[in-house]
Amino acid sequence: MEFSSKLLENAVYEMSQLPGIGKRTALRLVLHLLRQPESQTINLASALTTLRKDIKFCKKCHSISDLEICHICSNPNRVQDTICVVEDIRDVMAIESTSQYRGLYHVLGGKISPLDGVGPHDLAIASLVERAKSGEVSELIFALSATMEGDTTNFYIYKLLKEVTIRTSTIARGIGVNDELEYADEVTLGRSIINRIPLEQALKSS
Ligand SMILES: [Zn+2]
Repeated sequence: MEFSSKLLENAVYEMSQLPGIGKRTALRLVLHLLRQPESQTINLASALTTLRKDIKFCKKCHSISDLEICHICSNPNRVQDTICVVEDIRDVMAIESTSQYRGLYHVLGGKISPLDGVGPHDLAIASLVERAKSGEVSELIFALSATMEGDTTNFYIYKLLKEVTIRTSTIARGIGVNDELEYADEVTLGRSIINRIPLEQALKSS
């Protein structure tokens, strides 16, 4: 792609670093911004910069939050002894939208995936085990995606919790194999939380 302007080329290059955005789309987006009022570009750039600079992760559940402790963890009306274990904040958002779950969360930050170079120590597993051992938690609900990596992660954590007296369950798979949580419709996802099954049983059948 030949550019008549170095400034344009730089902007297109940076835009094309985003997933799913090729050079052509990047050029279209940049030209679109140039046609809009200058304030739109400034607002976009400033929203992204402020997000990066001020972003916080909840000290308890590791979800993205504007506060040290997120609004779910600090809500006294949530069921304090139940923790739903998820991969990332998109799962929290999906489960919250079902209105079927009143407990707390623990955001792992991904799943164990040796092929992608993600090991147990890259995830918030140690702090989950700590929470499970605190005596304040009676049930962990695993809501990871039904993929090989999700199962591996479930099994890894399950083994770590062998000595801890705590109920472990996994959401019922109305959700098909390889389906990511965020794509499940609210009714199906809500039902799968209510109809959760013991994790041990799920591990045996997989
Ligand atoms: Zn939190």
